[in-house]
Parts: sequence; C-alpha cells; structure tokens
Amino acid sequence: MANSSAAADVDVGANLKPKVNGLMGSGDSASYPTTTTTKTTTAAAAAAGAGKLELLQDGLSCSELFKNGEGLTYNDFLILPGYIDFAAEEVDLSSPLTKGITLRAPLVSSPMDTVTESEMAIAMALCGGIGIIHHNCTPEYQALEVHKVKKYKHGFMRDPSVMSPTNTVGDVLEARRKNGFTGYPVTENGKLGGKLLGMVTSRDIDFRENQPEILLADIMTTELITAPNGITLPTANAILEKSKKGKLPIVNQDGELVAMIARTDLKKARSYPNASKDSNKQLLVGAAIGTRHEDKARLHLLVANGVDVIILDSSQGNSIYQVEMIKFIKDTYPDLQVIGGNVVTRAQAKNLIEAGVDGLRVGMGSGSICITQEVMACGCPQATAVHQVSTFAKQFGVPVIADGGIQSIGHIVKAMALGASAVMMGSLLAGTSEAPGEYFFSDGVRLKKYRGMGSLEAMERGDAKGAAMSRYYHNEMDKMKVAQGVSGSIVDKGSVLRYLPYLECGLQHSCQDIGANSVSKLREMIYNGQLRFMKRTHSAQLEGNVHGLFSYEKRLF
Ligand code: 5GP
Repeated sequence: MANSSAAADVDVGANLKPKVNGLMGSGDSASYPTTTTTKTTTAAAAAAGAGKLELLQDGLSCSELFKNGEGLTYNDFLILPGYIDFAAEEVDLSSPLTKGITLRAPLVSSPMDTVTESEMAIAMALCGGIGIIHHNCTPEYQALEVHKVKKYKHGFMRDPSVMSPTNTVGDVLEARRKNGFTGYPVTENGKLGGKLLGMVTSRDIDFRENQPEILLADIMTTELITAPNGITLPTANAILEKSKKGKLPIVNQDGELVAMIARTDLKKARSYPNASKDSNKQLLVGAAIGTRHEDKARLHLLVANGVDVIILDSSQGNSIYQVEMIKFIKDTYPDLQVIGGNVVTRAQAKNLIEAGVDGLRVGMGSGSICITQEVMACGCPQATAVHQVSTFAKQFGVPVIADGGIQSIGHIVKAMALGASAVMMGSLLAGTSEAPGEYFFSDGVRLKKYRGMGSLEAMERGDAKGAAMSRYYHNEMDKMKVAQGVSGSIVDKGSVLRYLPYLECGLQHSCQDIGANSVSKLREMIYNGQLRFMKRTHSAQLEGNVHGLFSYEKRLF
C-alpha cells in the first residue's frame, strides 16, 4: 500500500479516500515545511484523536495555478500525488478525440510529412490512438494513404518492397542495407501489382556478395508457394508455417502480386484489442486539409476513401476562411467529424465552436521545430493555452487536443491534467520506423529527418503545390515565404508498435500516482478541485532531473 507511514498512524484511507488528494498523515508532517501545513497538521492530529482527519488541500487547484495570468509551460509545474487504491493496468485511458469519436488511448500523430502517412496511421490506430495523414502532397496521394489505412488487414503487407528480374544482386544488398528486409518478391515490372515471377532471399544471394552485377532473373527461386487473394490471415499463416519459407506472396487470379506475409511478422504477431476501429471494423484515420478553395476537391476525395475525421490545418485557425470551411463541411457531410484550429485563446475557440467544430487543436509556437513565437511574436505558452481553451470548450462539450511541445510521458499527463482530451505528437514519433523517410547515419547515430511544415524545405516541396504553405498563409501564395519552422533530424526510436505501449503504460502509472483510475476521472478531478498542482522554481526543475552523477545512461523502456 502506498502512504504506508500514514497508514501506520491512522487509517486515513478508509475515511478520506474520496475527498482527499495528496493527504499526508502525521508520520509525514515533520518533513513538510510550510507554516500553513504545520498548523493544519496539528489540527489534523487533534482531529485524528477524535477519529476523523481534517481535509488538507496542498498545492493549488488548476484555476489557482493560472490565476496570475503569466504564461506557463509543462515544465513550470508538477501534479501532486493522490491516493492509490487500484492497479496501474486498471487505468482506463479512453478519451474523446471529437464529439463523435472516442479513442482507447488519447494519442494522435501530427499531420506532418515527416510523421504521418499510412504506415504511421495504421500503427497509431492499432495501438488505440489515431494518425492524421498530412496534406503536403497531391490530393490523390493523400487519399491513397487514407485508403491504405481503411483497407488494412493485420498481418498482410500491402506495400512490400518489390524487385524486377533486371535488378541485380547489388540492388538487393543495397535494399537490405537500407531497410533490413531479407526477402523480395520479383515481379515482371518490379512493382506491386505486376505478375509474380519469383522470390529472392538470403539463400539466393549468400556467397554472391562479390558478384553484385548478377541479374535476379538468373538466380531467383521460381518454384513458389503462393496464396490466393482474399485468403484469411489464419489460413495464410497456416500455409506459411507449413511451407517453412520466410515469405508467402499473395496473388490474384492473374498471378499478380497483391500482398505478402512474412514469417518474422508471424512470430511477433499479436492482437491489438484496443485498436481504434469504425463500425465496419476498419481502422480509424484522419486527414488534414487547408482552407483554400481547392481543398474542397481534396475533401471530397478523402471522404470517398473513407476518412473518419478532418483536421483543418492552420497555424492560426481563427479566420474567416476556416469558419467558412467548417460550415461547408458540416453542410456537405453532417456526420463527418471536423477538428478546427490551431487556437490558443478562448476568443479564437469561440468562433470555431460557433461555426460547428467537433474538436479543437490547441497550440501555437510550442512545437519542437517551431520558430513562430520568435518570428511572428505571436503564440502562447502551451500549458496556459491548453488550460484556457479546454476550460472554455468544456462548456460546449468540445474536446481539445494539446498539439506540440510534448517531450515525454509527463508532458502527456500534464496536458490531460489541464483539460486536454488527447495529445498530438510530432517529434516524439518522428524517429520511429513507421515515420516516412529513410534512416541515415551521422557520427554513428541512426537518424531520420524531421522538419516543421513551416520550414522552407517543406513549403517548397514540389508535388504539394503549396499545401504546407497554406497552413501559414491564407492567400499569399506568390509572395516571399517567411519560415516558421526548421528542418532537422531525430534519433531512431524503433517501432511505434513498441513505443506507444510504453507511452500508454507510463500514462497508466502516472494516473495511478495521481489517484485517477481513468482519464475521465482525471478530468473530473480538475474541475472539482481534487487535482492539486505546484509551481516549480528553476532549482526545483533542476532537482527533478538527474543530477550529481559523473555519467549515466537514460534508457526509457
Ligand atoms: P512537436 O510534437 O514536434 O513538439 O510539435 C509538433 C507540432 O508542431 C505539430 O503538430 C504542429 O502543430 C506544429 N508544427 C509543425 N510544423 C511547424 C512549423 O514549421 N512551425 C510551427 N510554428 N509549428 C509547426
């Protein structure tokens, strides 16, 4: 039992559990320094003699934390611990993303072109969150990414790397070095959808490293075991197991390659009971669009491909363009969920709520790659923004997504403890294997590119026709660009399928420490004053981090 020193003196748990948060028993009082507490503890001790303890309110309530009006960030405060009477794995992380969509885990991947395409969105949804496909690409490309998520069947590789007979051993070695795969199907045209001719695996190319020029046509295995399109995963897995091969290509009736399953996936295959799914049992996916006239055509294409939620992607969402777009979407597709933003003030939120949004995205200039606050002098420290917009939007039942500046599990919890229903992450997910882009090495460290959508590099992406730019400029396409983001790199984090469970488990443990057995309970505790906060001085922040060591290794999971 936690709080065992208190329990040794008096049985505080039984009497006070529902009302008291952060209660300290008399055994703890000596180390607690403030005068107020000394007084109340003495009173508490007296009351304890009569069998009852007085309610102690340590720290500040959420509204008291912000009452001075200064802008706070997640690092400027802590949440005080509460009372534990449940196991961490019992903590229910379900939380609304919008008025109409509830997620099993309040985690959202950002619509950035180095963060979310179909692979990321699939992994996010499998783990109970959701991915928002970026729009820095053609409408057709974005719609195809949405389609891939909606058509995803767990275990089938819908996008395997494919070789052609004219590729060489050198090409396979290079591909293996880049993406780690050991087996490749060979099709007539070297693409998925081409007629399957053979497979090339390590066994075909072992000992041929010195002959990179050999054509795959001369060495590939042509006696293949395949399975027909439409086969169920368990049956395909059974065939794969029996075949003793590493890969099982799935072909249509014309012998064209449509998918593949791999033995390595079979081994690590696990079920995803918390996956975010629609009523047809297809994974949920979101997509971002701008507010320009041509975004209406993009919207129709996304809807035709089954998108579940649209995010209107603007760094300053309080505009006539966004209000009109919200109304247009709600008139055209009344059931489609629409998230507006970004906003950081109640006045901004009011206009979008009046226009009919189902959710709000909150944050301006707090992202890891942002330079908006520096360049535009406009924005708001993120903790304050989340608190003020959430408190306001709550009155209208509009959930808030805290977007940007999330660097750790602690920041996720803090965002939720300020009223957010979900968090949106960029940098936390950018280095994972599901993020778009190839890994590269710098000084022996494995990295991936991560860039702001307002960086010059993203705004100048050729196939996107200014889509990223529309996030920052409403109708100034031809004028000089002013960057609001940077382009950089981020360290390899492995797979989201391992990383998200780590975040979720950490979130459960944190809620346990706080004394909330669900995320909705956590939110309830904000507004009834049970959740207690404390500001951190600079030295308190130093104390809260590792200190005094000569060297250390920070492994997180
Ligand atoms: P992170 O999780 O990396 O701290 O922040 C990601 C968020 O930063 C995104 O979801 C988006 O709201 C915001 N963002 C993305 N690119 C840019 C940019 O170039 N400039 C600014 N100001 N914000 C950006």
